[in-house]
Amino acid sequence: MKGKIAILKEIGKPLEIVEREVPEPQDGEVVLKVLRTNICGSDIHMITGEAFRAFGGLFFPIVPGHEFIGRIEKLGKGVNRDSIGNPISEGDIVSPVYFKSCGHCYACSRGRENVCLESLMSVLRNAEKPPYFVGSFSDFYVVRAGQKFYKLPNDIPIDITSAINCALSQVIFGLKEIGIEYGDSVAIQGAGGLGLLATAVAKDMGAEKVIVIDAIENRLSMAKEFGADEVIKLDGDFRERIAKVKDITGGGADVVIELAGNASAVREGVKYLKRGGKYLIMGAINPKQKFEADPSVWIGENISLKGVSLYLPHTITLAINFLRRKKNQIPFSKMFGKFEFENINEAVRSALDKIYPRVQIKFD
Ligand SMILES: [Zn+2]
Ligand SMILES: [Zn+2]
Repeated sequence: MKGKIAILKEIGKPLEIVEREVPEPQDGEVVLKVLRTNICGSDIHMITGEAFRAFGGLFFPIVPGHEFIGRIEKLGKGVNRDSIGNPISEGDIVSPVYFKSCGHCYACSRGRENVCLESLMSVLRNAEKPPYFVGSFSDFYVVRAGQKFYKLPNDIPIDITSAINCALSQVIFGLKEIGIEYGDSVAIQGAGGLGLLATAVAKDMGAEKVIVIDAIENRLSMAKEFGADEVIKLDGDFRERIAKVKDITGGGADVVIELAGNASAVREGVKYLKRGGKYLIMGAINPKQKFEADPSVWIGENISLKGVSLYLPHTITLAINFLRRKKNQIPFSKMFGKFEFENINEAVRSALDKIYPRVQIKFD
């Protein structure tokens, strides 16, 4: 059986769709038929080359794509349950953790799989060698032996569940890590896919007030539909935005979340905080971007700053429960702009132009 993969041979080049033989799963592996894949900000950073340095082990050609869901096509020997013990069989739809930790390093031995160096390195594999189907910009995807995956219930639409294994699990994990408390005021910088989901999750975690800041008008109105109490347009003088956040929150937000994907947002965002506030950085993943800071202010104001990447695998089960609870209250499917796999380069361009909060690719 053959399938298609979209290969990125060089930074800045268009993706090239080529046919490859779909491999038989080895022991412990699972071959998935990809049903939906989304274009995550980090895919874009890879395609444009900005994230190159962050992935020291990156080598071309690659197949980008990691936020997706797939249907089990074939189970390798020894696989009959998902990572939480549900029995599985061919035809089941699953959400795989897109990385795999080593299980025996310092971080893994302390239960912090997201910090394992292997986890970050495992995202990308060479697309020139078998099993070829190593990213989700392809018809199929080979889940490695030991890579965790979770069976999805069939009462949640697959367009929505496609965002579970990156965007949604990322924000749930990040917000748990920074510690949103019942009654907190939360300001979110950026209303792309992560910002919108973070808005809904922060409200679900008991935030009293969620304020969303973005430059694009229709993203701000969508943020309201995702639960934002107030929105602020990113234009004009930054001092006015700071004053607005302080006014709405009565002196500053308890938590500010950077999901703008830009280091320059940090400098402004820290100023939204009240004394003793907490700042979570999850979007500005491009290496070498800098911002000016006066750390004496962080000390004086007892500010905490925390960067979070990846998540603990079981977060996927929390994401499933969240969607099940909220699917009729929040218009999740509205955040996606949809494209066919054949038009993947057009899809990438629209992700670059930020036309939709999240770009989704469908396979037939
Ligand atoms: Zn991602
Ligand atoms: Zn490890």
